[in-house]
Amino acid sequence: MEEAFMQRTATCGSLRAADEGKTVVLNGWVHRDRNHGALHFINLRDRYGMTQVVVDDDASPELQKAAGELKLEYCIAVKGTVRRRPDDMINPEMATGEIEVKAERIDVLSKCDVLPFMIDEENNAREDLRLKYRYLDLRCNGMQKRIALRHEIVKAIREYFYKTDFLEIETPTLIRSTPEGARDFLVPSRIYPGKFFALPQSPQLYKQLLMVSGFDKYFQIARCYRDEDPRGDRQLEFTQLDIEMSYVKRDDVLSLMEDLFGDVFRKVLNVELPAHFRRLSYHDAMNTYGSDKPDLRFGLEMHDAASFASKSTFNAFTETLAAGGAVKYIVAPKTEGHDYTRKYLGELEAAAKIYGAHGMAWMKADGGTVTGGVSKFFAGMEKEVLAETGAKDGDVILLVAHQDWKKCCTSMGAVRSRLGADLGLIKPGYEFCWIIDFPLFEYNEDEGHWEAAHHMFSMPQAEYLETLEENPGAVKGDLYDLVLNGYELASGSIRIHDVELQKRIFRICNIPDEVSKERFGFLLDAFRFSPPPHGGIAPGIDRLCMIVANEQSIKEVIAFPKNTAALSPMDDSPSPVEEKQLEELHLSIKKPE
Ligand code: ASP
Repeated sequence: MEEAFMQRTATCGSLRAADEGKTVVLNGWVHRDRNHGALHFINLRDRYGMTQVVVDDDASPELQKAAGELKLEYCIAVKGTVRRRPDDMINPEMATGEIEVKAERIDVLSKCDVLPFMIDEENNAREDLRLKYRYLDLRCNGMQKRIALRHEIVKAIREYFYKTDFLEIETPTLIRSTPEGARDFLVPSRIYPGKFFALPQSPQLYKQLLMVSGFDKYFQIARCYRDEDPRGDRQLEFTQLDIEMSYVKRDDVLSLMEDLFGDVFRKVLNVELPAHFRRLSYHDAMNTYGSDKPDLRFGLEMHDAASFASKSTFNAFTETLAAGGAVKYIVAPKTEGHDYTRKYLGELEAAAKIYGAHGMAWMKADGGTVTGGVSKFFAGMEKEVLAETGAKDGDVILLVAHQDWKKCCTSMGAVRSRLGADLGLIKPGYEFCWIIDFPLFEYNEDEGHWEAAHHMFSMPQAEYLETLEENPGAVKGDLYDLVLNGYELASGSIRIHDVELQKRIFRICNIPDEVSKERFGFLLDAFRFSPPPHGGIAPGIDRLCMIVANEQSIKEVIAFPKNTAALSPMDDSPSPVEEKQLEELHLSIKKPE
């Protein structure tokens, strides 16, 4: 039987000068197509690279015709001979730049319609167009590289675990609805009218149950689903490396992660990470960087201004301090080519206000004193301000006051982030750090009760065990976050493995015993049967890949993401379903009013 098409004997990235004289078949897409009279140059592309195919001007009329009919992105098969390019035609930018393939036969395998955008290095088309034609967007070199990079990262992670005692275990994706902080995606049961499965927000409870079962080291690359409103760079589904271990304390989990990331970064990027990552308590991270995910690629630390602000005549400062609030400052350094104009200071203030600041004050260090802004309220103590802050001529002291310490810190932190980027202070590279000693609970102002800051299965630190209920806000948890370049890369905790303690936490989070029995009965049941102490963590794979790829959006490292409105323009999902499908599921749609 004759073969259906000429199958490739080499890829478009593989041929070198040493292949000179070989007859080869290439399969790929027409990337660029140039004519010089009867001479055709075709850049043929596949996943592996690009090869220049030449149809010489003395080629047969059939070959000339075939070449003349080619259009961009036609999928073709080329048979030809590898020849060295003349010296002045060698292209050092191309891996195959020393050779070209002199075509003898060209077959069109499939034609291409009018393209919605050019297949290029990076696709600059509108995002919705990119996502509508994602299969074409993925042909662009940038996406090809990022998807391959993601593969390398996941492969390195798996290889790391395969060298250890960890078992890779899958957990179900149709589970009981056990909200973990976000809203569950629900799946109606056809067989049991009125009942639902949920898609997991993470495998949290299942990995804990695996510990009860004795699989003391578990990992999984798990898909997680959270039905949240579209906001920022979120996706409805994301991937995490899910890890749980028995008989561990916090530092065992942190060491494992340091070792894992050390290995992955060495393998994938040839970058050597420090053996241990810096650790910051939640309090210190907030107090110094105004964030629980500080970007440590630059300094610009913030400080307490109370010592001098309390002696000023600026009411906003003195009153805030008298009422137990905080005043913090940052010294914005004098920077070549950067002016602290009123307009720019206004932009910084706007950034602070997003986080609750009422305003941002400033004064400039100039000629051995402070001038402008709020400097007049520091009359007579200018030298003290300079000495306290260490501000030098040309630096600007930026201050934020707030009744609420956290709001003061996060507002000033927003200014710090803006400055870091605008002044070009961010060093290239990777700065990991651990944030530890988080509060276990947060107060939900809207609903008027405490809730878990991470999730409800995290262990309070031992010293708070007796007094949890008295002052939930003061309780610190055995919680840890891994931060990379200002992004929260992973969260984890040592878990509760005691029924009574677990119930106390549920109660503090406004979940009475009847409700917790109903919702989390299987976990509480399992904990009756000698659960081992355990803990874990879950680094986000999308975010990790995004940072390593030096991108700003996780969409750039996901093959088929949803858009910012949580829709898929490509398959037009979510979509209506047929009446029959709804009937089978015992559902009817309430028409929106
Ligand atoms: N299940 C947690 C999450 O998805 C991670 C963990 O505590 O291991 O954030």
